[in-house]
Amino acid sequence: VDAPPGLLSDVAAVVGPAQVLVDPALTAAYDTDWTGLFRGRSAAVVRVGSTSELSSVLRLCGAAGQPVVLQGGNTGLVAGATPRDGDVIVSLRRLAHLSDPDAGGQLTVGAGTTLAAVQERARAFGWEFGVDLAARDSATIGGMTATNAGGVNVVRHGSMRAQIRGLEFVLADGTVIDRLNRPAKDNTGYDLPDQLIGSEGTLAAISRIRLQLVRPPRHRAVALIGFDSLAAAVATVQLARTGEGPQLQAAEVMFAPGLALVCAYLRVAAPFAQPPQVVLLLEFGGSLDPLGQLADVVAKAPGVGDAVVADDSAGRARLWRYREAHTEMLAAVGPPVKLDVALPAGLLTEGITAMEQAAHGVVPDSQLVVFGHLAEANLHVNVLGADHAREQIADAVLRAVAALGGSISAEHGVGRAKTGWLGLSRSPAEVRVLRGIKRAWDPASLLAAGVLLPAEVSEMNDDSH
Ligand SMILES: Cc1cc2nc3c(=O)[nH]c(=O)nc-3n(C[C@H](O)[C@H](O)[C@H](O)COP(=O)(O)OP(=O)(O)OC[C@H]3O[C@@H](n4cnc5c(N)ncnc54)[C@H](O)[C@@H]3O)c2cc1C
Repeated sequence: VDAPPGLLSDVAAVVGPAQVLVDPALTAAYDTDWTGLFRGRSAAVVRVGSTSELSSVLRLCGAAGQPVVLQGGNTGLVAGATPRDGDVIVSLRRLAHLSDPDAGGQLTVGAGTTLAAVQERARAFGWEFGVDLAARDSATIGGMTATNAGGVNVVRHGSMRAQIRGLEFVLADGTVIDRLNRPAKDNTGYDLPDQLIGSEGTLAAISRIRLQLVRPPRHRAVALIGFDSLAAAVATVQLARTGEGPQLQAAEVMFAPGLALVCAYLRVAAPFAQPPQVVLLLEFGGSLDPLGQLADVVAKAPGVGDAVVADDSAGRARLWRYREAHTEMLAAVGPPVKLDVALPAGLLTEGITAMEQAAHGVVPDSQLVVFGHLAEANLHVNVLGADHAREQIADAVLRAVAALGGSISAEHGVGRAKTGWLGLSRSPAEVRVLRGIKRAWDPASLLAAGVLLPAEVSEMNDDSH
């Protein structure tokens, strides 16, 4: 599907012809999502270089009735940045400027700045960014804001929402709204930046972000601890959260099948001679050496089989690699059916059993690889060996999660991949309010059509004409 006549040349006059890609060889990387499972054929990729270019491009697309999909690093795992055939992709990666942090640890970054660039700038000034995740070299702060990304330090610092002080954003008609440097207290009605956090590109384009950094702990230590039950690992996290002194920075869980696949993929030795069923990664940090605290937790924890500890940076990175390599290993051996669920805290063991039963009910010999953020009971559930029944597996597992009162998407968002199941986590009344919010921000419904909210019956009928 082509863009309306004249639109792309008008857009090229704004951003320069070199920043408008239409050659399929060049657009392919933008048209396909990170998992390789979702793709569309965009009418063009427009690489904007400033807020004012972004504003002009959205104004031109809006006036021409041209649907737009916003894209950052394209590492999202629910196809929210993947176009439908004929959409224009507006890529924000060139908005990659960032300021130095001020004395209070705040800095302003362009939406296309990568997480790794922010981490590097923060470190150079004695600060740290409170969110970390394995896609750091490509994921952009704009995309992470639009998905309210979580990651491995949520137990310590919260998700993206907790790091954001203000936003500049551009409405679908090109209007720029600057809420970057708002006062610390400002109760003048609905909080618009807050609505954009987690909006998945459906409401407006985020162009700049004001971030609050945190002070890094002077000392860190990481332990991998083996257990024979998930309940023992959960009890250990509780123990690790309650002590005084160095604080828990991360509490990640892995299981024997996933760890074995990671070791084979990385060609590294397993961390334990006798592989335990459940492996917990704990990281502590503080102004005092956390090794004593870690040893204390390991000594008091129930059902500990084995443990390895590292406090130097190479040793810590080596232990983290077992956990972080799960996603890339799965992409290499899969792609799996990827699900990202949250369970009620007390129902983790029951939840895993229910998900296994649900998946095996559809494909008896499918394999579940589970890992995730244990403090938030957030599990990444990957089902291998179910290529021929992806939708049915997802449906069965997500229904099992919803039946236990869990969330069908804990931190990845809904995107295009999970819209069909939104109703399992949100009531009809809530979906009505979400639709109202969408209409208020983007009345012509030009941004990210089909992302987050399922098409309404009337829209589906329109599409079929
Ligand atoms: C190896 C790996 C590990 C990951 N680990 C985690 C994890 O631990 N925790 C976690 O939460 N996520 C994780 N993710 C997924 C995570 O959501 C993305 O990495 C990141 O948040 C998306 O950033 P992006 O720039 O790639 O966004 P994209 O993929 O480009 O876009 C994501 C969504 O945001 C929208 N969007 C992008 N930029 C903007 C903007 N400027 N304004 C408005 N909307 C915009 C898009 O339209 C889309 O809906 C992981 C992904 C990978 C590949």
